[in-house]
Amino acid sequence: MESEKDCIFCKIVAREIPSQKVYEDESVLAFKDIHPMAKVHVLIVPKRHFKNVEEIAASDSDLLAHIVEVASKIANEKYNGSYRLVFNTGLDAGQTVFHAHAHVLTGEKLAE
Ligand code: AMP
Ligand code: ZN
Repeated sequence: MESEKDCIFCKIVAREIPSQKVYEDESVLAFKDIHPMAKVHVLIVPKRHFKNVEEIAASDSDLLAHIVEVASKIANEKYNGSYRLVFNTGLDAGQTVFHAHAHVLTGEKLAE
């Protein structure tokens, strides 16, 4: 598995840092965000290190489609299937962890 030293999400994938797992398969791990912005706030992280969603799209579009499928599965299991999917990309968008991740916000009616 491609990983980067000192990357917090590579460490979570490697179980060097604990997380509250929601879903896992061969290509992704999904776990609860430590600072939830909605009743259900889950991060879906590819196990392979990509710096942002653009890198995923450019090198593995099937993986990007898979992340959307997993988001939908989580929103159906935890709520009524409605969800917001966010990929912060770049510093000015608020990206703080440079290992691509999808924020899945669900579990309630979200503020607009
Ligand atoms: P972003 O700002 O899009 O890069 O999102 C990074 C997200 O990771 C933030 O919402 C943080 O709350 C979350 N986060 C950072 N460290 C951890 C951790 N150890 N476990 C779970 N979530 C984390
Ligand atoms: Zn990483």
